[in-house]
Amino acid sequence: MIKVPLLDLSMQNGALAEELTAAFQRVLNSCCFIMGPELENFEKNSAAFCEAKHGLGVSSGTDAILLALMALDIKAGDEVLVPAFTFFASGGCVARLGATPIWVDVDPHTFNIDLADAAQKVSSRTKAVMPVHLFGQAADMDAVMSFAKKYNLRVVEDCAQSIGAKWKGRNVGTFGDFGAFSFFPSKNLGGFGDGGLVTTSDPDLFQRARILRVHGMDPKYYHSYIGANFRMDALQAALLSVKLPHLSGYNRKRVENAAYYRELLKTHPLVSDNIATAPDSSVILLPCDLSGGEAIWNQFTLRIRGEGKRNALRAHLVAKNIGCDIYYPLSLDQQVCFQEIGQGGETIKVSHQLGHEVLSIPVYPELSQAQKETVVEAIIEWLNTQKS
Ligand SMILES: *Cc1c(COP(=O)(O)O)cnc(C)c1O
Repeated sequence: MIKVPLLDLSMQNGALAEELTAAFQRVLNSCCFIMGPELENFEKNSAAFCEAKHGLGVSSGTDAILLALMALDIKAGDEVLVPAFTFFASGGCVARLGATPIWVDVDPHTFNIDLADAAQKVSSRTKAVMPVHLFGQAADMDAVMSFAKKYNLRVVEDCAQSIGAKWKGRNVGTFGDFGAFSFFPSKNLGGFGDGGLVTTSDPDLFQRARILRVHGMDPKYYHSYIGANFRMDALQAALLSVKLPHLSGYNRKRVENAAYYRELLKTHPLVSDNIATAPDSSVILLPCDLSGGEAIWNQFTLRIRGEGKRNALRAHLVAKNIGCDIYYPLSLDQQVCFQEIGQGGETIKVSHQLGHEVLSIPVYPELSQAQKETVVEAIIEWLNTQKS
């Protein structure tokens, strides 16, 4: 039986083992482990990849978000509009600064921020909005930017899952005040431990973030802000520099894999690729790409409708050695740690529904044809046991 893990990094990193080892050796010999030319080189090239003016290598995607919010002076008493359906860090960073994340529902097609709901939640304390380009698909950045302009809000784009994704031809992370990227190993540019990147095109914000990254220190031992240590290791930068030139290729493979799934699955009578026109009988809804085919599919996430059906499909796939997982079982308003914020409730219906319906299947670049066929066959086999 062919095994299909949800993610397998061994081939991608194995293919570069020699170059990675050489990069490690280079840093070892240099004895320059903090800041320095390896980091500067990676920052220059990764910012260029993202078509951003400035890039700042940081310790993680979470710290990228935190640093961006700090540079925008988000603090206690402020509110930030954050989609409820996302990874914890998007909202967690807002709360860590003493500000209040205001949960916003998501669009059922794209799983990205629902601005009609956001508009209901703007108050005199609202300082920023955080579109999350979830699963590798850009949020509608024309709409986000005009929303932000209308209400005079700062914009921090959570690009952790979407490096290289575009909205109408323009890279995510270049629309807002800041873009925040992650190199956690499961992201599209997967590092060797934790790492992240902050992008901005504003020279003043860049300077502020740069200084905040090193304890608000400039020059040495003179501290004008209360920052922290948000640095990316030189070693991480050197290793990521080996993989960066391959990122477009990795993304292209993910796009091909997603297209393959779509083509083969959408012909089944119980599958729909358009929620707006899907008949009630559709059991599986395929993810929609509204950005014009430039999503980079960090996850390929199905919606499985009907009581208990998502868990049934998951059990079926697991029994066939096909990796799959639920991103995310709870939306942020439902997390125990956020109960005292206590808002959202009825207004975030889609996010709550998604928690019961989503299932992400393997879409990583190195999937073989046989593995992809195995995934499709297993899903169709399960669908054929379902009643329409
Ligand atoms: C991974 C992720 C983060 C955090 O990145 P880390 O590098 O793991 O700290 C933030 N937001 C989203 C949407 C993510 O997927």
